[in-house]
Amino acid sequence: MYRCLEDIEFIIFDLDGVFYREDEKIDGTKEIIDFLDKKNIDYCFFTNNSNYKTDRYKNKLLKGGVDVSEDKIFTTTKLIQHYLEENCPKDIYVLGSDQLKNTLYKKYEKNSTNPDFIVIGMDSYITLKDISNTINLIGENTKIIAANPDRLIPLKDRFELECGIINSIISEFTNKEITIIGKPNSYGYETILKKFNKEKEKTMMIGDTYDTDVLGAINSKINPAWIKTGNKLPKYVVKKDFMIFDSLIDLKEKLEEAKR
Ligand SMILES: [Mg+2]
Repeated sequence: MYRCLEDIEFIIFDLDGVFYREDEKIDGTKEIIDFLDKKNIDYCFFTNNSNYKTDRYKNKLLKGGVDVSEDKIFTTTKLIQHYLEENCPKDIYVLGSDQLKNTLYKKYEKNSTNPDFIVIGMDSYITLKDISNTINLIGENTKIIAANPDRLIPLKDRFELECGIINSIISEFTNKEITIIGKPNSYGYETILKKFNKEKEKTMMIGDTYDTDVLGAINSKINPAWIKTGNKLPKYVVKKDFMIFDSLIDLKEKLEEAKR
């Protein structure tokens, strides 16, 4: 399982649960990045979140001593922009955070009656009325894309509902297919690999959420790895056909050994 570490040239890291936990620091962040830089192993970061701009993640990483260019940080907002560029909609309607709306309406015309594309993201202020209004806009030819399928985000002592809940309501009442842009779908991974010009066999994805990070890597034929510093593995995961690291320090030590 760990034999592939020898050939790894590119690592895609999840963020929350890997480089920080909400606002808490996680050990080994600077050490692993310094090591990868020294060994010329390239890397980037990929979060399913569509609420914030990349500068927020840059600053969160900086608090852990990691200084990276925003070009290395992929949010689902960035990937949705990429998807829309490829699909050239005439106009769109966005149900999501102000950040997502502002970013997309800067480039695409807003249509509140019969949009080409509906884009779904998450925002804690979305109301049932907002969801009903969105459902009423969906016609026969409307395409629907969503940032991610996560149904909830576990926090330290509670959880918050996420985009997947809105996707479920919308697909239940429209019977329409929703294209998911984030993990575990391959779109984000494929886009990142193309941008960095990397091969799947020499790429590893490391994350703390099995259903998105690990399954996404498996779906995309990228070497999958789960790290113990965030979410627990769901009970239904019996066959552990992915690498497991205790921490970023453990990852560094295993890579060091493999690259010796
Ligand atoms: Mg995570």
